[in-house]
Amino acid sequence: MLMFCPTCGNILVAEEGRDAFRFVCSTCPFNFNIKRRLSSRIYPKLKEVDDVLGGAAAWENVETTEEACPKCGHAKAYFLQIQTRSADEPMTTFYKCVQCAHRWKE
Ligand SMILES: [Zn+2]
Ligand SMILES: [Zn+2]
Repeated sequence: MLMFCPTCGNILVAEEGRDAFRFVCSTCPFNFNIKRRLSSRIYPKLKEVDDVLGGAAAWENVETTEEACPKCGHAKAYFLQIQTRSADEPMTTFYKCVQCAHRWKE
């Protein structure tokens, strides 16, 4: 499967580590990591991860946290942590409301 760099459009190289998937662009500094959940459930397959910022499949096996939805006020949300730039920048946390499926980021 292929993923393309959102910055320069080149193909991203996927590396599957023990704790995270990592996608690296070969021509520009873009990369991101996706943490695996710490249970025995299978993380979404690589082909589903390219949809992580907007697709439903990437949210199927993620954990929930106590985070109030800004739209409906529901107290629980799924969350994903993704490193979108260089390794020294903090992870970005994305949330999706359990109740209304509204998505937002930290
Ligand atoms: Zn790139
Ligand atoms: Zn909501």
